[in-house]
Amino acid sequence: MMMSGHIDPNSPLIPAQEMVLPTLQGDGKRRWINPALAKGKYWQRRRWLAYALIAFFVTLPHLRFAGKPIVLIDIVSREFTFFGHTFYPTDSGLLLLLLWTVFFTVMFVTAVGGRIWCGWGCPQTVYLEFLFRPIDRLFAGTAGKGGKPRKSLNTALQLARFAVYLVCSMFLAHTFLSYFVGTDRLAQWIRLSPWQHPTAFGVMAAATAGLMYNFMFFREQLCMVACPYGRFQSVMLDRKSLIVTYDIHRGEPRHKGKAIGTDKTGDCIDCGHCTAVCPTGIDIRNGLQMECIHCTQCIDACDGVMDKIGKPLGLIRYSSQDALAGKKHSWIRARTLIYPALALLASSLFLVLLTTKFAFDARILSSPGSPYAVTNSRTLQNNFRVRLRNRSNQQETYSIEILSPSSASVQWSDAAPTLTPNETKLVPIMVTAPVGITAANHGHIKAVVKIADGSGHSREIDLTLLGPG
Ligand code: SF4
Ligand code: SF4
Repeated sequence: MMMSGHIDPNSPLIPAQEMVLPTLQGDGKRRWINPALAKGKYWQRRRWLAYALIAFFVTLPHLRFAGKPIVLIDIVSREFTFFGHTFYPTDSGLLLLLLWTVFFTVMFVTAVGGRIWCGWGCPQTVYLEFLFRPIDRLFAGTAGKGGKPRKSLNTALQLARFAVYLVCSMFLAHTFLSYFVGTDRLAQWIRLSPWQHPTAFGVMAAATAGLMYNFMFFREQLCMVACPYGRFQSVMLDRKSLIVTYDIHRGEPRHKGKAIGTDKTGDCIDCGHCTAVCPTGIDIRNGLQMECIHCTQCIDACDGVMDKIGKPLGLIRYSSQDALAGKKHSWIRARTLIYPALALLASSLFLVLLTTKFAFDARILSSPGSPYAVTNSRTLQNNFRVRLRNRSNQQETYSIEILSPSSASVQWSDAAPTLTPNETKLVPIMVTAPVGITAANHGHIKAVVKIADGSGHSREIDLTLLGPG
């Protein structure tokens, strides 16, 4: 496709021979996309889903599970809370399993339903199409078939529109940050003067500015040039994936004018409605394109046209490349079996580890100073420290015992430690054994201790006792 856009004949620019981006003109300037609106059945469904999702995105950081936020990504404290469980940097294995679960689920959903997430659930689409574009339409209307907005705004209206954008962006910035700092801290920041927490205020201002830039200026380009998921979709899709597609066999040869759907012509009357409503500025009739976010607006627009000219709906519809080519559609294929199986495996492992190993962390560290001492000439003493972290939601007191060697014993150097939820303590322990226990093994011997909380969870930990060789 040749690039649209006028280039001055005296300009040193060489016009691009192909479309680089739908948002670029031939001379490299921005091509602003002001899509018309097709209020068809998919739009109605997407709209209600979008309202529900906006309510969900805003409410989620306020919800609590077992006294903790349902989701909190606390970057400063390096903690991630998810459904009452708090993960620490030491839980990289568990987090990796969680990420694999998400990764394989995304692969599976894309293999089956194409970019259904982009068109129906992604916050960028939801907020742009169902919050910010309606604001634009409120102030400037639409051109009916896309192109420029109907009204050019005077300065007062432009300022008013800017103010509405600013208020919405500030609200979204607060919502966004509440996922990272929690609603309690956020409420505290809001109540205090900016001078009392300049860093937090700076973060909030930067987030607001970023959202303003995104929704006022960058817009659909985020999906095309910045979102990695959009770039990867081509490897996740196959010819049987569900995509928004134009039925080329039925629509071509397209024609303008009155000869609607005769034997020699297809059903497409080249009215341009499908391109006028496209929020990424593409023409679905050119086939599957990376810029298509599967928003279904072209389906709604074309169905409206087909309805008017008395043709069956669905010239543009959800289908697959194979189905359009007349092949039998099948949901069952290698990737729709392997991806969910891998997601199930990763999530099962995650849940097993989470439920069996999650109550507390215990790590044994050596004590500073002499590695061992021989007391009363018969007893060998090794001192260690245990880094204990209570990961449960209740106060726990911990006990310790030695499993091997049987002639050794272990005890907390002070009283048995009691930790409140999420508390971490460094607790000294003392292991004693007969002095000759290390003699046969060049001055060291393996030992195993067991630490348990009062709720029945326990850990067995290996350590090395040192002594005379
Ligand atoms: S809306 Fe339908 S009929 Fe009109 S140009 Fe697009 S595909 Fe053809
Ligand atoms: S081609 Fe259709 S489904 Fe794809 S982004 Fe454009 S309007 Fe949405």
